[in-house]
Amino acid sequence: MPTASAPRYDRGLMWFRRDLRATDNAALYHALKACRHIWCVFVFDTDILDKLPRADRRVEFIHASLEDLDVQLSSLGAQAGIAGVHLHVRHGPAVHEVAQLAQTLGVQAVFANHDDEPDALARDARTLGALAHHGTMFHTYKDHVIFERQEVLTQQARPFSVFTPYKQAWLRTLDDFQLKGYPTRRYAASLAPAPLAGSRPTLQALGFGATNLTQLRILPGSDGAATLLEDFLQRIDHYGTARDFPAIKGPSYLGVHLRFGTVSIRLLARTAYALHAQGNNGASVWLSELIWRDFYHQILANHPHVVTRSFKPAYDAIKWDHGKHADALFAAWCEGRTGYPLVDAAMAQLNQTGYMHNRLRMVVASFLCKDLGLDWRRGEHYFAEKLNDFDLAANNGGWQWASSSGCDAQPYFRIFNPVSQSERFDPEGRFIRRYVPALAGLTHPAIHAPWAAKPMELASAGIELGKTYPLPVVDHAIARQHTLTRYAVVKQAA
Ligand SMILES: Cc1cc2nc3c(=O)[nH]c(=O)nc-3n(C[C@H](O)[C@H](O)[C@H](O)COP(=O)(O)OP(=O)(O)OC[C@H]3O[C@@H](n4cnc5c(N)ncnc54)[C@H](O)[C@@H]3O)c2cc1C
Repeated sequence: MPTASAPRYDRGLMWFRRDLRATDNAALYHALKACRHIWCVFVFDTDILDKLPRADRRVEFIHASLEDLDVQLSSLGAQAGIAGVHLHVRHGPAVHEVAQLAQTLGVQAVFANHDDEPDALARDARTLGALAHHGTMFHTYKDHVIFERQEVLTQQARPFSVFTPYKQAWLRTLDDFQLKGYPTRRYAASLAPAPLAGSRPTLQALGFGATNLTQLRILPGSDGAATLLEDFLQRIDHYGTARDFPAIKGPSYLGVHLRFGTVSIRLLARTAYALHAQGNNGASVWLSELIWRDFYHQILANHPHVVTRSFKPAYDAIKWDHGKHADALFAAWCEGRTGYPLVDAAMAQLNQTGYMHNRLRMVVASFLCKDLGLDWRRGEHYFAEKLNDFDLAANNGGWQWASSSGCDAQPYFRIFNPVSQSERFDPEGRFIRRYVPALAGLTHPAIHAPWAAKPMELASAGIELGKTYPLPVVDHAIARQHTLTRYAVVKQAA
């Protein structure tokens, strides 16, 4: 990292990845400070895009957020008297595109923010090599979390694997510097007008079709994040109680913005911390969730084996169900046809909107591994494909928590009952009615377990089980016993 005594670069390139904002951006700040002329680029990386379905809300979200980022950069430049500042947008393998643009622009250094996912680290290692080949430096910075990698350690200097002591150490380590924003405007005069002709590729040119992102009113870019934050701050006092009920507008819905960096984690943590210090309980609970996010990021950074294996090795001995019947159960889970209304409503929410409420993520994840007997990685991959806010660290952490294989996970013998979860967290069945209209006519005691309803009641609600709504694909009580047997290998290994 260049210091005050290091030579200033004449030309540099800022490479945006999961940090799509011009304000409070660590790498952009350092780039502007260290260079006389800075250009900015985003690459639609074909190494990533080629694996995605052709209609993907995340790609559309990024595409729209880049328009916003381009406007932000132009106005940041204009405020410093520099006209014609624009974001370069490339489409191709990122390593090649960045190295080529760096050469064309004749930059001495490329700047980016850390991304600790194993594939991203491998990409960055290749980028470092490609740039070094032409004598170009590659500088990267922490931006995406408050504390990363090994910044918060136990007294034995080891990474934490239990959340509560991690959170205490996180709070003890926190200081004003960690929460302070990076004032990019201070060095905005280093922004350079875009010298190269070329417009941003359309979604179609990238090979993608439009999704229902606009109909869902998911607002991209920093403006979208600011609107959500403003709305959430009116409700944050009640977050601690409201957050568990999917029919209520309890959480912030900022996940997708945190994922793509259209909002700064420092801004959110600073806001939450200030309210927490004033004794606001909702803000304290929300701050804890932001700390969970850091927790799982450091787990992934320090234990990359979790991407393919259990955090706790003993859990790799578990034998999951395979074969035709298992595949049919998996399809029923994916498509919301399990016969358990809350599970089906949750999967419908995911399939229709790309969002799933946190309580429901826990319920459906537990259902997949502990009721259906399926490998948690199958569910993890399905979430990775569908979630707008998909984040490898948090998703893997959530799945390993639910399957009990993770660090600080729920014990394996704790098995969510999908009916009592439904009665408790969607007592009137409002959420179920919204996403499973076939059940809308049922009264609320019956809506949680339609198979137990009286035939008269089903008939008057227009429901024919097995036809208009599925019968349960498993019996929870029997599945629970199978799971305890299945997980016995873990007890033997302990
Ligand atoms: C099986 C499973 C899979 C999950 N997959 C993801 C995922 O891919 N991406 C993701 O961001 N979160 C994931 N989570 C965590 C959590 O469900 C979502 O972060 C949350 O529902 C997003 O909605 P929100 O932005 O309204 O959250 P809020 O309740 O408003 O929380 C604010 C932010 O805190 C962070 N956060 C909240 N809870 C957690 C948590 N348990 N772990 C880590 N970070 C958290 C998120 O960044 C979230 O946006 C998963 C949880 C489970 C149980």
